[in-house]
Amino acid sequence: MREIGHFIGGKQVPGKSGRTADVFQPMTGEVIAKVALASKGELREAVENAKAAQPAWAATNPQRRARVMMKFLELIAKEMDSLAELLAREHGKTIPDAKGDIQRGVEVVEFACGIPHLLKGEFTEGAGPGIDMYSIRQPLGVVAGITPFNFPAMIPMWKFAPAIACGNAFILKPSERDPGVPMRLAELMIEAGLPAGILNVVNGDKEVVDAILDDPDVKAVGFVGSSPIAQYVYSRATAHGKRAHCFGGAKNHMIIMPDADMDQAVDALIGAGYGSAGERCMAVSVAVPVGKATADALMDKLVPRVESLKVGPSTDLSADYGPLVTKAHLDKVRGYVDLGVQEGAKLVVDGRNFKMQGYENGFYMGGCLFDEVQPTMRIYKEEIFGPVLSVVRAKDYNDALRLPSEHEYGNGVAIYTRDGDAARDFASQVNVGMVGINVPIPVPLAYYTFGGWKASGFGDLNQHGPDAVRFYTKTKTVTSRWPSGIKEGAEFSIPTMK
Ligand code: NAD
Repeated sequence: MREIGHFIGGKQVPGKSGRTADVFQPMTGEVIAKVALASKGELREAVENAKAAQPAWAATNPQRRARVMMKFLELIAKEMDSLAELLAREHGKTIPDAKGDIQRGVEVVEFACGIPHLLKGEFTEGAGPGIDMYSIRQPLGVVAGITPFNFPAMIPMWKFAPAIACGNAFILKPSERDPGVPMRLAELMIEAGLPAGILNVVNGDKEVVDAILDDPDVKAVGFVGSSPIAQYVYSRATAHGKRAHCFGGAKNHMIIMPDADMDQAVDALIGAGYGSAGERCMAVSVAVPVGKATADALMDKLVPRVESLKVGPSTDLSADYGPLVTKAHLDKVRGYVDLGVQEGAKLVVDGRNFKMQGYENGFYMGGCLFDEVQPTMRIYKEEIFGPVLSVVRAKDYNDALRLPSEHEYGNGVAIYTRDGDAARDFASQVNVGMVGINVPIPVPLAYYTFGGWKASGFGDLNQHGPDAVRFYTKTKTVTSRWPSGIKEGAEFSIPTMK
């Protein structure tokens, strides 16, 4: 059995706490590794290592720091196939989708290669008589990232690449469900020339998370995961005076206006609703057709597409999506479908009993589709995080605009329409952080920032893009005045005592 320890001081080290968790291969249901769960003492060891290494890294000029990122990109490109396979085997998503997970992380590493430019401060000449003023950005010291299971490559890279490029040392606490890829990324960073101690991976559960939140030497915490834990991490980290930005769950709506291209809208719903088995924080989980005729036309096209989704093992390149991450999560998602039926929603496609031939112990579930879901139902209010799409019929545009705006979550939203005015009004009015116009999963590119509103995000600054540089640095402002100097210029006669 493969044992996964921690990555501290530039190398893999075995866990010492005696506690471990099973890592499953969702496509077969087997346990494929045991991951160590760190104690408070092991976290402290990593922090001390990081603290000792950080000043020299901060003093390394930003161009050299960027070169480590460039080399890391080369190494990832060479290892793309094996990383994607490792990711797919531990997470369950298909290999092409796993490559996308890695690629969206790589794009933030590419952004971090611009750190010499991004770190430039401001300068005012002559802010007062003989006075110049300038600002500089300095790293915080040791910072940490706590990440979810659903993007085990992308989200760790979103966190550590900008933080390290800014001159910090980083402690990564990845999800205990799929820790293999984060461990390999840390090794590749060392191979790329990163000094030991600047990127550490400490595996574990609540115990090590709490140790991070309470450690006085950890100056900032970036978290991504479910909303209750995001809120908990935010409160505990900030109570200890740390910087924190914590991103949570979602219930992303897609509005389909009567003038939308229905084929495009259906394609978008199928990909964004069921891709990665719905285990994406930007998955569309609610479709909102506007008007009865739109709803009926949508259902006519959508139902056969959901019925013909191809579920398969993660290594099947032709599968639309693979298994869910664990048996416990599969049971939870099935439980939500049972609940929807009890609540009175109309289950028009039922994938609960899907079995994958030859992989009977895998965590598979067929696509489910609910019609006539009401905003008062729990299946509408809560995040399901599985291959389940709910259709909520809206009377008119204002009704449709109100649904995502009034929902507790506010991560992403999309509108499908051919009407520029409606799209523009929607983008301006909707109370949600990321908006797509005829784009179902509006994940901003690396040089913009990513962040949801309301219960989908706690803290001030977003992830990646310019906000990441602000989050991982503190600004120092210098006001400088020099006494008047000698301005007469060069003297050509031999100096004598005057
Ligand atoms: P999770 O909240 O269970 O776990 C996230 C992290 O928190 C993990 O590292 C885990 O070990 C740790 N953790 C879990 N329970 C804890 C506790 N009681 N105390 C302290 N730490 C704890 O989330 P998950 O199931 O791994 O990921 C799925 C969730 O993440 C979904 O809700 C999804 O919407 C969300 N997500 C959000 C974004 C975003 O950017 N908003 C992106 C991806 C995923």
